[in-house]
This record gives sequence, structure tokens and C-alpha cells, in this order.
Amino acid sequence: MIAGAAETATASAVSPWMSGAPRAATSLQGDVEADVVIVGGGYTGLSTALAMRGRGASVVLLEGQFCGFGASGRNAGHLTPTIGKDLPTLTRLFGRERVRSLVALVELAIDEVERLISTHSIQCHYEAVGNVVAAVHPRQFAAIDRASATARELGLPGTLLDENAMRERGLPAAFVRGYHEQHGGILHPGAYVQGLRQAAVDAGAAIYEASPVLRLEDAARPRAITAAGSARGRALVLATNAYALDLELPAPLRSRLLPIYVQLLQTAPLSAEQLARIGWRGREGIYTAHEILESWRLSHDDRIVGGSKHIRYGYGGGLLPDRDGRVTVKLEGLLRKRFPEIAEVAVDTVWGGRIGLTLDFLPTVGRTGAHRSIYYSMAYAGHGLAMASYAGTMIADLIAGRSGPGQTLWGRRTVPLPPSRCAALSSARSTDSSKPSIAVPIRCSAASPAGSAGSDWKLPLRCRSRR
Ligand SMILES: Cc1cc2nc3c(=O)[nH]c(=O)nc-3n(C[C@H](O)[C@H](O)[C@H](O)COP(=O)(O)OP(=O)(O)OC[C@H]3O[C@@H](n4cnc5c(N)ncnc54)[C@H](O)[C@@H]3O)c2cc1C
Repeated sequence: MIAGAAETATASAVSPWMSGAPRAATSLQGDVEADVVIVGGGYTGLSTALAMRGRGASVVLLEGQFCGFGASGRNAGHLTPTIGKDLPTLTRLFGRERVRSLVALVELAIDEVERLISTHSIQCHYEAVGNVVAAVHPRQFAAIDRASATARELGLPGTLLDENAMRERGLPAAFVRGYHEQHGGILHPGAYVQGLRQAAVDAGAAIYEASPVLRLEDAARPRAITAAGSARGRALVLATNAYALDLELPAPLRSRLLPIYVQLLQTAPLSAEQLARIGWRGREGIYTAHEILESWRLSHDDRIVGGSKHIRYGYGGGLLPDRDGRVTVKLEGLLRKRFPEIAEVAVDTVWGGRIGLTLDFLPTVGRTGAHRSIYYSMAYAGHGLAMASYAGTMIADLIAGRSGPGQTLWGRRTVPLPPSRCAALSSARSTDSSKPSIAVPIRCSAASPAGSAGSDWKLPLRCRSRR
């Protein structure tokens, strides 16, 4: 797959979305300079390359494997107006006014994805059908109603669906009540990331793949150093999200980002008759009202793609294999439970990836370094399709020194991870006998930092799984 890089992964091993990805670009040899150097070729890095080229800056992007190797080539492809957490939780944590600005931001981010797809004619099977937050049993009804009421108060477009309305829309029978978020939909994440890559190349960004950055030089003109060369710029952008574990990130980021492992599966393509058995005429994306959600959708070729729910965390942030057999068994069990009408359909592929989480669930965006010349946007809590695609606009605003819709993220006080507490908890429920890890439930708590401004940032936070 990658010319001259025997140690790199193949695209089809990443996820089925990435099979058929084009050959990777050449790796970096020697020293290069540009206005902006970007590390990481997912949605964050590529949207930044496009945004900065659009502003006339020269751009070098260094990707350790190939564009789409990380979560951008592995995700479930639900484009949702979610930033961090569900709206009632966000409102409880941050207050209504803050949530208003967060919601406005993520709505802009969805518009940005739609704009990128149409401006660059990206063929990624985007279906603007929205997503349904669904209850699978009556205990979740109140959560659905709260989500709907909060969305209405915030002026978001959506509809509360009682059981009759769910059946009238033809949603699969296991989902008994829901809130339909109209903005967004579902897309092919691999085709989307490959389309962004092509658009960045066409726009004149220099992309080097199979070029892992090993070290950063923090300077007025910072430098990213690989085994065979380096790239120096006026600004350096870290777009590595939860995949940067081999690279020593600057301290403020290291202490904020929690890598979490998520798995998905896809079935064989459903026949027309099997599709008719489950309904799902509107093809809306579905995710459940669980604290750690299940996601379900149909792909462009009529497979069911679903999973999440059973997540893992490596002790001390350490690396785990992408897939865990026990999680696979649980996900297949969930598939059978939610879609009993098509019990005979085979599971075709299982894959996994890492998401980045912060303790307040919101993306971390900002600048750092002795010269404030290193920029970053990461940790989208598993909802980065929209927000990572909008990262380019946020980073461009930061580099230009202006405020913008992203100010609500970079203007906030962030919360460092409490390693000892998470570490203690992580050994409580292990899914990997060789390395202790958090399965569910995760429950982390952190005190508000001393002198924290604004009561809306007070913690403790709790994330808990309800079955
Ligand atoms: C299984 C799964 C399902 C998901 N489902 C959804 C969903 O349905 N909807 C949604 O909104 N979000 C979803 N997400 C989250 C979403 O995919 C991410 O938030 C988003 O892709 C993050 O993009 P990114 O560019 O910041 O990071 P990534 O896509 O992870 O890219 C980081 C890149 O940096 C590169 N890199 C790392 N270190 C180096 C280095 N040292 N040198 C050079 N390059 C380096 C990596 O190779 C990688 O390509 C899901 C994630 C997963 C894993």
C-alpha cells in the first residue's frame, strides 16, 4: 500500500471504509519549510490544510501512515449536531448560555461538512437524513424527552417521535421512542477523508505520508522532525488526536487527552427482502440514549454498521489492540438483540479505533509552546466528524489572532486528567488480561482546579453505563 514503508499498515486493515484508498504519497526526505506545518492527516489536519491554503498560506502536512489511518478512516459516519455529550448533560455542566454557543458552533460545523462535500464534489454517499436518538426500553423515555425539550429550547431542528411515529417512519422495531435530529445524516467516512485529502492536494498542500513525526522543536519557527527530514513553519498544527501516543505531545495536551478504544462491526449486504423485514425506509442514523451509546446505520450498500457501547481504556493511556474478541462477541449479541428480524445475516467485518476524550467531554483547541506557535485541535469525544472538519476554520482564526465561533472552546478553562484516580479505576474492570483496562462502567471524578473561574466549569464529572 505505502511505497517504501514496509512498517506501515495497509488501508484495508484499518477498516472496510478504507479499502480501495489510493496509494499514499511519498514520505518526507530532507528539510522543508512552509507557512504552516500540520502533523496528522485525518479530518482535523486535512480541514486545516484546506483552510490555510484558502487563506494563501503554504502548507506541509506530515502523516505517519496514510491520510485516514486514524479515527477519520474508521468511524461510523454519523454526522450529528453533538458536541461532547447530550444536551441535557451539557446544560447541567456548562449552563444554558454556554451550551447555546456550543450548539451554534456544532451547527456551523455540520454546514461546513456539507460545504466541503459540495465544493470539492466529494463522492462520499452523504445522505442528509438526520439521526435519531433512540430509546430501546421505557427507562430511557425520560432521557429522550429531556433531549427533545432542551433541543427545542435551543432552537434546534428536530422532532420527538413516540412509538406510533417511530413505526410510521419504519424505524426498526427495537427502537421504541426517539428524537429525530434533522441536521446532518450519514456518510462514508473513508470516502470523505480521501476526498478531503484529494482536495488538499488540488489546493496545493504538500502532503507527505509514511512520515511519522518523532519529535517537535518548540521555537518561534517550530519544527516537526521525522526519521528522514524535518518541516519548519511559522505555525505548527498538531492534528494527531488519540493516535499521537508515539509522539511526545506538549505537556498541556498530554495531561488532557484520554485515548478510548471503540469497536464497530458491519454485516454482509442485506437483500431487498431482508431490508423490507426491518423497515428503516428513511435510512436515518440511529444512536441510543445509553450513557455510552450504541450506534446503528445502513451503509450505501445496505449493510448494517453498528457498535460502540463497549469501550476500553489502556492502563495509564497505554496502547491496546484495536480489536478485542470479547467486545466483538458483545457487539454481535447487541446486533442480534436489536435486529432479530434478520438473525441469519452474517457479520462481515469487525474493526476498531481510538477516540480522544477530555474530562469535560469538549474538544481541546488552542495554542501552546514557549513561543505560542504550536496549535492544536483534538479530543472530540467520538463525535468529531463535524467538529474535526471545522477544526481548520478554528485553527485559521487562532493563527490570525481573531476570535470566532470556536472561541467558546479555546476560551475555556480545561481540566487536567487525574491519573491516579483513573488508574485505580482502570484496574477495576479489565477486558485484557495482560493489560488492565477500563471496560464499562467508567467513572472518573476530578475536583475543579484551584481558582477556577466560573462556576459552570465545576466538576465532579461522572460517566456511567446504563444497560
Ligand atoms: C470506531 C469509531 C467510531 C466513530 N464514530 C463517529 C461517528 O459516527 N460520528 C462522529 O462524529 N465521530 C465518530 N468518531 C470520531 C471521529 O472519527 C473522530 O473524532 C475524528 O475522525 C477525529 O479526526 P482527527 O483528524 O482529529 O484524528 P484522526 O482521524 O485520528 O487522525 C489523526 C492522524 O494523525 C496521525 N498521526 C498520529 N501521530 C502522528 C505522528 N507522530 N506523525 C504523523 N502523523 C501522526 C495518525 O496516523 C492519524 O492519521 C468515531 C471514532 C471511532 C474510532
